Amino acid sequence: MSQPIYYKTLAELSRELEEKKVSSTEIAQAFIDRTQATDGKVNAFLHHDAHDLLAQAKRSDERRATGQALSPLDGLPIGIKDAICVAGQPLTCASKMLENYVSPYDAGAVERLKAAGMLPWGRLNLDEFAMGSSTENSAFKTTCNPWNLERIPGGSSGGSAAACAAGQAIATLGSDTGGSIRQPASHCGVVGMKPTYGLVSRYGLAAFASSLDQIGPMTRTVEDAALLLQQLVWHDRRDSTSLNHAAPDYRGALSQKRETPLRVGLPKEYFGEGLSDDVRKVVDNAIGFYKSQGAQMVEISLPHSSLGLAVYYIIAPAEASSNLARFDGIRYGHRAAKADDPVEIYYDSRAEGFGPEVKRRVILGTYVLSSGYYDAYYLRAQKVRSLIRQDFSDAFEKVDVILSPVTPTPAFKRGEKINNLLEMYLCDLYTIGVNLAGLPGISVPGGFSKDGLPVGIQLIGKPLAEAELLQTAHLFEQAHDFYNQHPAL
Ligand code: GLN
Repeated sequence: MSQPIYYKTLAELSRELEEKKVSSTEIAQAFIDRTQATDGKVNAFLHHDAHDLLAQAKRSDERRATGQALSPLDGLPIGIKDAICVAGQPLTCASKMLENYVSPYDAGAVERLKAAGMLPWGRLNLDEFAMGSSTENSAFKTTCNPWNLERIPGGSSGGSAAACAAGQAIATLGSDTGGSIRQPASHCGVVGMKPTYGLVSRYGLAAFASSLDQIGPMTRTVEDAALLLQQLVWHDRRDSTSLNHAAPDYRGALSQKRETPLRVGLPKEYFGEGLSDDVRKVVDNAIGFYKSQGAQMVEISLPHSSLGLAVYYIIAPAEASSNLARFDGIRYGHRAAKADDPVEIYYDSRAEGFGPEVKRRVILGTYVLSSGYYDAYYLRAQKVRSLIRQDFSDAFEKVDVILSPVTPTPAFKRGEKINNLLEMYLCDLYTIGVNLAGLPGISVPGGFSKDGLPVGIQLIGKPLAEAELLQTAHLFEQAHDFYNQHPAL
C-alpha cells in the first residue's frame, strides 16, 4: 500500500523529486496540511510558518527546474528542535526567558542542511533548555505522544519525536545530552541517533551541558538517519570540540556485508532491577533476532554504570549553571519590568524567566562548583566519568556493538512523574553512559508494549563507528515492519 506523502521517507521523496513525480511545493503543502490537521492534538510545534515553508519550497522547485538542485535532499522539509538556531526564526528553548527571541544566525547543523537545499520547518517543543524526560517542562505547552495522547512523548526532544511519528515532518533534528534524542524516539516509534561527541557541530545549539550535548537526526528509518548524518558531519571551526573527521559513506554501509561475525555485547547491569517486562520482551526479541543472523552474544559488564546517574546530575547541572549565567535580563532574555538596580534586574529576571526544573539545576550546579564542594562533588564526578568511559573501552575490546534497552518502561502517563524527580531522572538510566563516554548511540523501533506503545532498542557503538552502528540497526529494522506502522490520529 502506498503511503501518503507525509509518511514517506527522505529517501523515497528524494527519489520522487528527482523523477519529477512530486514537487517540493506539493511536499511542503502536505506537511502544512497534516500539521494543521493533527497538531491541535499532538502539540509538537511551538511555532510554524506555512508561508515561509512554501516560499522556500518554491525556490527549491526553481532550482530543480533549472538543473541546479543543491543535493538529492534539495526541497525536503525538516523540523527543528527549538533549541537549535535558524536565522530569522524564534528560538525560545521552551523558556519564558527567550519568549521573544529571534535567532540572528543559523546553527552549524542548520547551515549544513540549508547547503543541501533542505527546508527548516517549524520550531519543535522541548523541555525548557532541554532539561527533562517528558517535554512537560516546556513553559508553553505539553506535547502528547501520537500513539496515545494521554502519554508523554519522552524528552527533551519530545516535539521532534512526536512530529516525526505523527507525519508532521519527514525528519527532525533533536539534541541529546543524557538521552534526549534516543528516549523520545523510543517512546514515539521513530529512529533517533546521537552521534559521537564532536561529530556534529554544536555551534548555534543553545548550550545545556557542553561536554555532553550533541545534535542528531530523528527519522522514520535508519536509511534516512544515514542520509541526514552524512550531511551533518562537518568540521566547524566555531565549535572548539568539532572533530575533523572524513565521514564514510553511511548509506552505502547499510547494505555492506560484514566480514567477521557480529559480536553483540549485553551489559548485565542494564538488565537488572527496574526494567519493565514490556521493554525486556522487546529487547529479548532483538537478542533472538541477532542470534538468528549468526551474531555472537557476549555478556559484558559496565561496572561503574550504577554511578552514571549521580555523575550526570553533578556534571550536567554544573555546566548548565555556567552556560545559563548569560541569561541575566541584560545580555540576553527576559528583563523584569520593575527592577531598579542591576542586582535586582538579575534576581527578578531570572526568577521570572526560568521554570522550576531549570532553577533546580542552576542551584545544584552552583552548589557543586562552589568552593569547598568542588573537590568533593565536581572533581570526583569527573574522575568517575573517566572510569565509566574506561568501562566502555574495555567492553569494546570484546564486542563490536552493545545492545540494551533505551528506557526502563514504555511512555508513561502525562503528570505521572512530574512530582517524582528521582523517577523522572531514572528514565535516562540506560542512555546517560553514552553521553558521559562520548559514544554514538541509536534507538530503533523494536516492538510494542502490551498497551500498544512503541518500544525502542538501543545500540551503542565505538567512537566514530557510526557506519557499523547504522548497519547493525538497519539489519534489524529491515527484518521487521515497524517503520510502516503509524499512530491512528
Ligand atoms: N533527561 C535528561 C535531563 O533532564 C537528559 C536531557 C537531555 O538529553 N537533553 O538532563
